[in-house]
Amino acid sequence: MRELSPEDLGFIARVASRLDITNYKLTGGEPLVREDIVSIVREIRPYASSISMTTNGSLLKKYARALVEAGLDYANVSLHSLKPSVFHEITGGKLEPVLEGIREALDSGLELKLDFLLLKHNRDEVESILDFASSMGVSINLIELIPLGMGREEWSRLHESLDPVVKMLEKKAVKKTVKEFQNRPTYILPSGIAVTVIRGYGNPDMCRACTRIRLTPDGRLKTCIFRNDNLVDAWDAIKSRDEEKLAELIREANKRREPFFKTRV
Ligand code: SF4
Repeated sequence: MRELSPEDLGFIARVASRLDITNYKLTGGEPLVREDIVSIVREIRPYASSISMTTNGSLLKKYARALVEAGLDYANVSLHSLKPSVFHEITGGKLEPVLEGIREALDSGLELKLDFLLLKHNRDEVESILDFASSMGVSINLIELIPLGMGREEWSRLHESLDPVVKMLEKKAVKKTVKEFQNRPTYILPSGIAVTVIRGYGNPDMCRACTRIRLTPDGRLKTCIFRNDNLVDAWDAIKSRDEEKLAELIREANKRREPFFKTRV
């Protein structure tokens, strides 16, 4: 299977910086399962104005300090429950290593944000996760489930609306801001932490403001998380270190980008 190396990613970042692409988010799957993740951050760093990561946190304890030294600016850590059994039911993993990873990351000086996906399983945990985030002094995203790759039955078994949570935040917050373009509300709680409500699915406001291009591990440029029908294969240009060709392919992918949701679903 094709897989880009840290040096390939450094080359891509160098070419992309010529096109003013300088903000990076390392996602997955789970980015920390790559044993060369620290080298990846190190290779991208000279060409990046920011590098962040989305992680399930289970390996964060092992890598946090080295990632900070390599130049990672911040990380989003998924924390969907504070109850070990519910956490296991949702993720299949163990809660304790994630909590240890969060502590180690904060001790290492890494800025963190928590991601809490609201589900039927954890709908009674919103208050406790907000208290936990407040006690750690970290901000949190409350995220509504996206029905990606699931049938109607599974969706209704899992999905929980954020509406009651938003009502609670409207009462509790000392300040509310709404991100321009994305129309995404952020509430500041009395503890000082920021709580952002994310409803990405079927949301034309998010798509209108979307400036992202994804790069798959096998070297394809992906113009939208929901689309696999207009990928741009950059593997050959990357592997032959053809700067002009790669710049042309990035421009081509950019031309193919368009809002996925043009009306509210
Ligand atoms: S265009 Fe695609 S990737 Fe961008 S916000 Fe919309 S759904 Fe997400």
